[in-house]
Amino acid sequence: MISDNNTNIRDLDRTQLEEWIAAQGLSKFRNEQILRWLYARRARSFDEMTDISKPTRQLLDAHFTIMPPMISRVETSVDGSRKYLFVLKDGNTIESVLIPERDHYTLCISTQVGCAMGCRFCMTGKNGLTRNLSKAEILDQVQGAADEIPEDAPRLTNIVLMGMGEPLANYENVRRAIDIMTDNRIGLGFSHRRITLSTAGIVPRMKDLARDTKIRLAVSLNASNNETRDMLMPINKKYPLEKLIAACVEYSLAPRDKITFEYILIKDVNDRIEDARRLAKLLRPVKAKINLIPFNEHPESEFKRSEQAVIEAFQAELLQKHYTANIRWSKGADISAACGQLRGKV
Ligand code: SF4
Repeated sequence: MISDNNTNIRDLDRTQLEEWIAAQGLSKFRNEQILRWLYARRARSFDEMTDISKPTRQLLDAHFTIMPPMISRVETSVDGSRKYLFVLKDGNTIESVLIPERDHYTLCISTQVGCAMGCRFCMTGKNGLTRNLSKAEILDQVQGAADEIPEDAPRLTNIVLMGMGEPLANYENVRRAIDIMTDNRIGLGFSHRRITLSTAGIVPRMKDLARDTKIRLAVSLNASNNETRDMLMPINKKYPLEKLIAACVEYSLAPRDKITFEYILIKDVNDRIEDARRLAKLLRPVKAKINLIPFNEHPESEFKRSEQAVIEAFQAELLQKHYTANIRWSKGADISAACGQLRGKV
């Protein structure tokens, strides 16, 4: 059994905690009770678990820690987005962005320290992958940000896994974190339909995700042919567009759901009308909606944002082909919190 007093209890699965409880000769009922304290009630120490006997709390304390989320810096954008820098146990840092919407908050969370995917337009991937986040580290971002929202403010209802890292490259921990996020009894009680995972296109894991969860899928597409996508996103050499689109067709969706395709518009790279036409044709077999994201320029990138008129013409072409195509101006660009800008810098 994995337990020394350095093990973060929130990294244990239900079954692992169950096994530990049985090994200590405690009642099975304790499992749910402890899990509820850890997630739904956000206990920061075993002492807070007042309906659990003192000897059991002492036993828990001797074997585990509850490491509360550690936010070391908060930056606020002119548009109200807030970027949180979390410091992890080993000193690594990650970022999450809390985005105010009209009547709720959306939180964009990270799943890895760095990223191995090497997409050319993205700052997160510039230094490669350091490591995967644990289940607790993924959940800490949700609990840490939720704690920052005042009681009388709108609620945090939407989660997007679009921050640092490729979520499907850390599949098991991401799946376990989603399991807690969507659990109404012991977990955080988020609706599956309000959680969206964005992938660069790890095809076999898309199938796993469809089997294991009911959350929404977004695909970071950014090109309408393999040549351009190979250049922008090296993952395309392994899983080219034919395989990616076939996996999207197979991805099981609720009747009215669509897969969101993110398309970063980069000047003279993927923003011509013929790109829009090819994109429309490519997505024809999929239940798709398209988010057009004007590229967020940064000093370390060779790419430029498309002209406003070009962006609008691209959108018009897709609308004319009967797609839902929205232009998404990223929030938080002034604090480097926009898409592709997260880095976890201290
Ligand atoms: Fe990784 Fe996403 Fe950046 Fe690509 S865009 S390098 S998958 S974080």
